[in-house]
Amino acid sequence: MPLVCPRTITVRKRNGQVLTFQTSLSDQEAHTSLTTLVRNGKLTSSFATDLAGRPYYALSETQLAWVQKIVHDANKPPFAGEQFVSIAAMLTVVNEGGIKNPILRAVHPDCPPLDGKHREEGVICLKWLRNSTKIAILSGDKEMFYGYMDKRGVTDRELPTLILETLQHTNKDLVRSATLYGRKTGACCFCGRELTREDSIGAGYGPICAEKWGLPHPYNMEVN
Ligand SMILES: [Zn+2]
Repeated sequence: MPLVCPRTITVRKRNGQVLTFQTSLSDQEAHTSLTTLVRNGKLTSSFATDLAGRPYYALSETQLAWVQKIVHDANKPPFAGEQFVSIAAMLTVVNEGGIKNPILRAVHPDCPPLDGKHREEGVICLKWLRNSTKIAILSGDKEMFYGYMDKRGVTDRELPTLILETLQHTNKDLVRSATLYGRKTGACCFCGRELTREDSIGAGYGPICAEKWGLPHPYNMEVN
């Protein structure tokens, strides 16, 4: 039997997303594995069943790549999830305080200063939805979706290092993360508005958001 070195396989999803992974299985081995998984009821989708039902040699290159992809995913250990307890707790408190969909923006500590035009370029954005928080990176007017975290702050899939490190930084110290964001971008990490007051630029967020998010702000201290 010929020795198969790990090789890289690429498949393209219907939405255009390209997925790349490595396999050590030959196409024939992958197809045998798929057939076994379907026969044992481990895979039940009509796509997997259909591919398993055809002889291996009758499959196209694209179909064989999908056979590899399905077997690859089926044999992957389940993802354990990272947990960001403080972020989730904060978003929950603010949501219960009456903000329907609180948003928290953060930047990586090594991120260069972002001027007005690029203010939201590469910013990590956490958006609270009904039952989970959406994790995205902002790019121009678009949001690139990366995953969800549940109400306990557990993420549902692997995240790129840039996002992971940013979330770890934010989770450790929300005030420091908010200040960092404000200073790098000149905007408030909660509402996204430009910071104009000198004390807000120093804090990294405005007095109204500070109040809503329960954070210290010099202006609020003077008033109270
Ligand atoms: Zn604000």
